[in-house]
Amino acid sequence: MKTTEKAIWIVGDMRSPRLWLESLKVMTKAAPLAREAETPLHMILLGSSDPSPFEQNAIDLSSCVSMEDAAREALDHGAHAVLRVDHKALTVPHTQVYAGVLEELVSRRRPWLVLFPLNDFNRELAAFCAQTCRAGMIADCSELVLEDGRIAGRCPAWGGRILANITLADEWTTAFVTVQPQGVKLAPERAPEGRIENAEPEQVKIPEGMALTHRAMESPDTRRLEEARIVVVGGAGMGDMRGFSLVRDLAASLGGEVGATRPPVLYHWVEENRMIGQTGKTVRPELLFSIGTSGAVQYTAGITEARTIVAVNRDANAPIFELADVGMVGDASVLLPLLTKKVKQVVMRRLADAVTFLDKDEGLHTGGFGALVRRLREARNWTAEELARKTGQTPDFISQVETDQMSPPVGFIINMARAMEVDPGTFLNKEERSTIRDLRVQAFQQRTRNYSYTTLTPDAENSHLRAFMVTIDPHQAHKPVAYKHEGEEFIFVLGGELEFTLGSRTHVLKEEESIHFNSDIPHKLKSLSGEPTRCLVVLYTI
Ligand SMILES: Cc1cc2nc3c(=O)[nH]c(=O)nc-3n(C[C@H](O)[C@H](O)[C@H](O)COP(=O)(O)OP(=O)(O)OC[C@H]3O[C@@H](n4cnc5c(N)ncnc54)[C@H](O)[C@@H]3O)c2cc1C
Repeated sequence: MKTTEKAIWIVGDMRSPRLWLESLKVMTKAAPLAREAETPLHMILLGSSDPSPFEQNAIDLSSCVSMEDAAREALDHGAHAVLRVDHKALTVPHTQVYAGVLEELVSRRRPWLVLFPLNDFNRELAAFCAQTCRAGMIADCSELVLEDGRIAGRCPAWGGRILANITLADEWTTAFVTVQPQGVKLAPERAPEGRIENAEPEQVKIPEGMALTHRAMESPDTRRLEEARIVVVGGAGMGDMRGFSLVRDLAASLGGEVGATRPPVLYHWVEENRMIGQTGKTVRPELLFSIGTSGAVQYTAGITEARTIVAVNRDANAPIFELADVGMVGDASVLLPLLTKKVKQVVMRRLADAVTFLDKDEGLHTGGFGALVRRLREARNWTAEELARKTGQTPDFISQVETDQMSPPVGFIINMARAMEVDPGTFLNKEERSTIRDLRVQAFQQRTRNYSYTTLTPDAENSHLRAFMVTIDPHQAHKPVAYKHEGEEFIFVLGGELEFTLGSRTHVLKEEESIHFNSDIPHKLKSLSGEPTRCLVVLYTI
């Protein structure tokens, strides 16, 4: 059905490859409408083929897409015509300058629709143009359709709870529309007889006193978010800046990127370039955590291409669960620390296994235990000084361990495991782990066979933490199962009096006194009282 003779224009955004891609997407989105209305699609390019004045002023334009490339790609993606407006004042977009040029073009050529890929700059530009051209405006629509021959934009309203159909009053012959680029795949298709036309603006009005002094490039961080395999998004449900730090912790432990809905950006818990959604970034990770987010369409528009979505929300009826593959109903402040801890353990375990595997099976000698410690430390982004502080050692000690100049004592391994919040077995290779497991079981069985030991943790032969009640006959030395064993030990005297020798030092412990020591140091127990001495012994072993 022929609705209008007038063209549909798309104002291309060439400030970066990403924004240019979004311009092509908006054109692709408009193509079915153009076919239905039997009207041509025109790509409008405002820019300059001579950026030298800016480059002389050391303004970096390297992220911009050139007019030549943009024109070629627009024709390759179905534009019937590309209208190039080439002027040095248009090199870097400025709302008033661009609006002035567009106003003149629109008044001369009277297009039907002028579409802009939705972003902050274009939202301002479209509103400015609509006002100066005294034309209609449809803001932030996700789709454009024809209804009874009239154009209608489907626009999310009421926080995304409804989609409103917005159309134009009869007197508006041209409409400016900002369009979400999401939800469409580019399909190269060259329009027959696609052409490039140059338009000379009659005059380019530059506001007085205006000079470009600086141009900030899109930071690599932003690109990392869009290309990340894992993204953790925090929403208003994180409560405050401190709550939001739980999102950062989980992202760091997963090696992922932090994303946010709009409220955390508005509250300044996170930088603006982390916002995901209709007016933010579109992400396509393999795994996306969406935490404390309700699932408003403006946000979910940016995550629909994620492969697996895990949502955490304390409201079981939150709309985000309709989109999520895995849903966890609970308080984020409780669930997130647990999730992060578990992830850290699994990641460290995997890393240790990977290092052991490489060393042993692939013949890629990576330096043994010292190299493993260094890799695990680096995986945490800790300096040697930080690891030293966390384990009560000196940086020199850490350096000696990492270069295999010394075998660290078990106490250090335990402290390091505690600092890294992992199982101490992480630091052993597979054979060492299975040998230690066998020894641990043997020692447990020996102890429990010994008449003086009563286990308080039955079935714990293979646990790291075990408790025993030890009874020593009056004035007798205790017949130990082993004088010295890897790990830590804690003794609490329940009754009688205990002589406790640790290395070369002897201590006397009375009832209700206790001692905590590195059990790698040889130690002996003796009852000093005329009655049996009873002790609670807790062992922590690797
Ligand atoms: C034109 C337009 C464009 C927009 N563009 C965007 C956009 O690009 N991106 C965007 O994100 N938004 C955008 N918005 C805003 C959007 O409509 C929503 O308001 C926003 O996404 C809501 O963010 P939220 O889910 O974090 O917050 P809310 O909607 O307030 O949801 C918070 C959720 O957290 C849960 N919660 C609270 N406490 C906890 C807790 N302790 N543990 C677990 N869960 C908890 C609650 O149950 C609730 O479901 C746009 C809006 C408009 C009008």
